[in-house]
Amino acid sequence: MLCMSTLPHSTPDLPGAGRYAPSPSGPLHLGNLRTALLAWLAARSSGAPFVLRVEDLDCERSRPEHERSQLADLAALGLDWDGPVMRQSERLREHRDAFEQLRAAGRLYPCWCTRADVREAASAPHDTAGPLRYPGACRNLSAQERSRRARESGREPVWRLDGRSERVRFDDLLRGPCEGVVDDVVLWRADDAPAYNLAVVVDDDAQSVGEVVRGDDLIDSTPAQALVADILGIARPSYLHVPLVLGADRRRLAKRDGAVTLEQRLAAGESIPQIVAWMARSAGLAGAGDPVTLDALLRAFDPQRLAREPVVLPAAGEL
Ligand code: GLU
Repeated sequence: MLCMSTLPHSTPDLPGAGRYAPSPSGPLHLGNLRTALLAWLAARSSGAPFVLRVEDLDCERSRPEHERSQLADLAALGLDWDGPVMRQSERLREHRDAFEQLRAAGRLYPCWCTRADVREAASAPHDTAGPLRYPGACRNLSAQERSRRARESGREPVWRLDGRSERVRFDDLLRGPCEGVVDDVVLWRADDAPAYNLAVVVDDDAQSVGEVVRGDDLIDSTPAQALVADILGIARPSYLHVPLVLGADRRRLAKRDGAVTLEQRLAAGESIPQIVAWMARSAGLAGAGDPVTLDALLRAFDPQRLAREPVVLPAAGEL
């Protein structure tokens, strides 16, 4: 027998949307753009809508000119999107409602630790591998200890997810079944603004996102995001974390790597078709001699063919 409480939260008639959600804190590099291409291909090849969201919660680093150049780069590659672009900075009310819901569910706690505290506690010798996780110093404070921390620090706290060390399983379309312990991520910042790990869940839901395709540097935050969705009664999207593009030093691609943006590569004499062809080949979606167009990529797209390893961006002029 099926009981109401076991029904999924929503049963969309249309396939959930795919999305790309850049932070407008600088120009996109070819790695970011390759991820956007893969997200677009995943959505469009299955007839799903594709939406954009500008993740501009960090008001110090977000700039309208970066947003403009990011959208222009996506369009220059030939990627299109449905409906208006969502801006996170315009959704504070919805983020606050979700925050209140989590607080009422007893799944938040205030934390006064500085970044340095977290780094120091997490760099204890037994704990060097893996991502920086919150070690839990503020997790179980009594009301009295909280008042003392508030008084002594003289600062507003951040609010963290009480993940209760839950293990969350999720399926990744490329990596298969994954399981991770939830980190007590920050969901509300000390400057009274929503944090990425809350806003991303609320806004993916608002944009009816059914499939999250993003760089695999974000996979460690997925258990926390999936748990936040569960607590809020939001159906989880499916996930596809794609390998990153690296610089010649095999570190994450950055400005120091030279010509990494579309503008720089075009200035160096490379063309859009060459760049798209490199993206497709390096991602495992085309062979060396195959002609590459977006239409051909759409027809042949199969997430199972995606490369599982990161790739180094060739120097300008060598695509
Ligand atoms: N805004 C994030 C970034 O630019 C991506 C968030 C996501 O895809 O979930 O890294």
